[in-house]
Amino acid sequence: MITIVGAGLGGLTLARVLGVHGVETVVYDLDASPAARHQGGMLDMHEESGQMALRAAGLFAEFQSAVLPGGDASRVLDKHGAVLLDQPGDGRRPEIDRGVLRDLLLHSLPEGTVRWGARVTGVRPTSGGYELTFAGGPTETTELLVGADGAWSRVRPLLTGDQPVYAGLSFVEIRVPRARADHPRLADVVGDGMLFALDDERGFLAHRESDDELCVYVAIKKPAEWATGGEVSRESLLALFPDWHADLRSLVSESEGALIPRPIYALPIGQRWPRVPGVTLVGDAAHLMSPFAGEGANLAMQDAAELARAIVAHPADLEAALGAYESAMFPRARGAAEESMRNLVDLFQPGAGRRLADFFSSMPTG
Ligand SMILES: Cc1cc2nc3c(=O)[nH]c(=O)nc-3n(C[C@H](O)[C@H](O)[C@H](O)COP(=O)(O)OP(=O)(O)OC[C@H]3O[C@@H](n4cnc5c(N)ncnc54)[C@H](O)[C@@H]3O)c2cc1C
Repeated sequence: MITIVGAGLGGLTLARVLGVHGVETVVYDLDASPAARHQGGMLDMHEESGQMALRAAGLFAEFQSAVLPGGDASRVLDKHGAVLLDQPGDGRRPEIDRGVLRDLLLHSLPEGTVRWGARVTGVRPTSGGYELTFAGGPTETTELLVGADGAWSRVRPLLTGDQPVYAGLSFVEIRVPRARADHPRLADVVGDGMLFALDDERGFLAHRESDDELCVYVAIKKPAEWATGGEVSRESLLALFPDWHADLRSLVSESEGALIPRPIYALPIGQRWPRVPGVTLVGDAAHLMSPFAGEGANLAMQDAAELARAIVAHPADLEAALGAYESAMFPRARGAAEESMRNLVDLFQPGAGRRLADFFSSMPTG
């Protein structure tokens, strides 16, 4: 039995691919239930990572029937609303609702695999394994432990003392429900897929979701405390965009519900650790990076699929399996983290919209 901490995309993919090969797992997650929180916005699945993992999980056909048609379109505006790029998708990076993808993986697992409401508060080595402590619950021991528990991993300290560092930029997530029906102008502004409106070292990143809701990230360079201090309101967001086009400002003023602060953190680029028996990490726990390469979820799923394959290939030597997995994962994560750091710097400098439009135009199509 393999113990996985975290029922995000990384942990669930790992449990599923191992299950396909007859390896049993238990997954602990702190959320009280699968419905405890909104899973966030759309994700585009890359062929060599997210899509590869879905094939390994035997779920590619179900994935294909759940993608948002046309959702991979891209549009870039400047702050005056001028269209710098408007490009339909080519189907190579299909977009799926993150909650739909999570449910696809979750429902593929045997009942009871995921133990909800299980917050791991501590992990310590024991003779021949690890002991996990839970908030308000009994302890568990395991011989093989995988930390898939995201940015603030409780498993990571067994491997490295590195902690995420604030990247200098925060998102505030806002939502415009019933866009086509009640906010047709905004639905038109965002279009079928992803909208980028970047200027003045700030901007809006928005996406149409499968339930006709617009998910909008308002991005701004501010201290982390600005986002988390409870002071952000629709008025204070609008004050940061005084001379931006009315349609873009309306993304804020016509939004409904809670404003969700998402300060962006990243682990040091190129983080690695010496092999520690019986434990490893996948996804954000291993290599949290800013979202500007669009790789985090894709990498989490690729890590999971490759770790599962390594375990299946070395049934009698789990240390060889973990070593093989990590030696491929470290350089892969470094490359993506470098790209996301470059993009973070580039997208929040003057003239970013024009550069992004030129970049999209230069990408090969078909
Ligand atoms: C605003 C934003 C936009 C993004 N956009 C994209 C994108 O377009 N494409 C892309 O590929 N990536 C994107 N990412 C990155 C992506 O969201 C992450 O890389 C991905 O979710 C990582 O998956 P994971 O399974 O490693 O971790 P997580 O999704 O963080 O899952 C970790 C799980 O562990 C659980 N957990 C945590 N601590 C404990 C504990 N102590 N005990 C028990 N359970 C615990 C949590 O409840 C959670 O379910 C984006 C990120 C952000 C912030």
